[in-house]
Amino acid sequence: MERKLFIAGNWKMTTLLDESVGLAEALVEKVGAVEAVDMAVCPPFLCLSGVAGALAGSKIAMGAQDVFYEDNGAYTGEVSTVMLKDVGCTYAICGHSERRHVIGETDEIINRKVLKCIGDGLSPILCVGELLTERQADETMDVVSRQIRLGLEGVSAADVIGVTLAYEPVWAIGTGETATPDQAQEVHAMIRRLLGELYDETLARNVRIQYGGSVKPENAAELLAQGDIDGALVGGASLKPDDFKAIIQAGIN
Ligand code: PEP
Repeated sequence: MERKLFIAGNWKMTTLLDESVGLAEALVEKVGAVEAVDMAVCPPFLCLSGVAGALAGSKIAMGAQDVFYEDNGAYTGEVSTVMLKDVGCTYAICGHSERRHVIGETDEIINRKVLKCIGDGLSPILCVGELLTERQADETMDVVSRQIRLGLEGVSAADVIGVTLAYEPVWAIGTGETATPDQAQEVHAMIRRLLGELYDETLARNVRIQYGGSVKPENAAELLAQGDIDGALVGGASLKPDDFKAIIQAGIN
C-alpha cells in the first residue's frame, strides 16, 4: 500500500471562536485542496461547529481534542461521540499527554474512549509517550508499549487499521525540544513491531503512527522521512497557517 501521511493540528485551549474560524479559513486557502497528505485540525469543542463551516468543501477534516465514553446522561461537562459527529468531526484525540498528566486520565479511561470512538464511527488518534524522567530512567519502550497494549485492549484487527497512533514524547510537547529523527524512529519502529505481535505484520505496516512534539517547518522533512513515521500531530505550529502549510509541504515532498 502506498504510504499517505496524515498531518493533524491540535489547537489546544488557545483560540476563541472568531480566531478558530479565521485560522480554518486561512488554512483552507493555503492547503485546502491538497490530496497527497491527509489533513485534520482539532479546534476546542466550542469552536467545532464554526470551524466545520469554514472547512466545508475542503480536504481538511476536523477532529476533537477529547471525547467521552458514554452516549448521554448525567456527565456534566462531557461531550459524546454522537455530538462530535453531529458537528462534523471525523477524528477524536484520545489520551493526549495533557489529559493523562494534567487531568489524570488513566489507560483504562483512554481505552474506553478509543473503543467508544471505534464503535460509533469516529477515528481515534491514540496518543502515547514517555515523561522526561521515564526517558532518563531508560523506561521509554516499557512505558510506550504499556500505553499501546492497554489503549488498544479489545480493539480487533479489523478496527485497528482505523486507529491513528501518535507517539508524543511528553518532554518534547510545547517545549521547542524535538526528539531527533533517530530517537523518534526508534520508538516508532518498536510500536510497529508491537503491532505486529498484537495483530499481524501486514496490518502493522498499514497502521499510521504520527510523531508529535515541537514539529515545525525546520524539522518536519527529516522527521517525516523516517520509515516508520507516517505523519505528525502538530501543536504550536498548527496555529500559524504558513508553518502548517510548510509542514504539509514537507509531507508531500
Ligand atoms: C501537541 O499538542 O500534541 C503537540 C505536539 O504540541 P507542540 O507541537 O506544540 O509540541
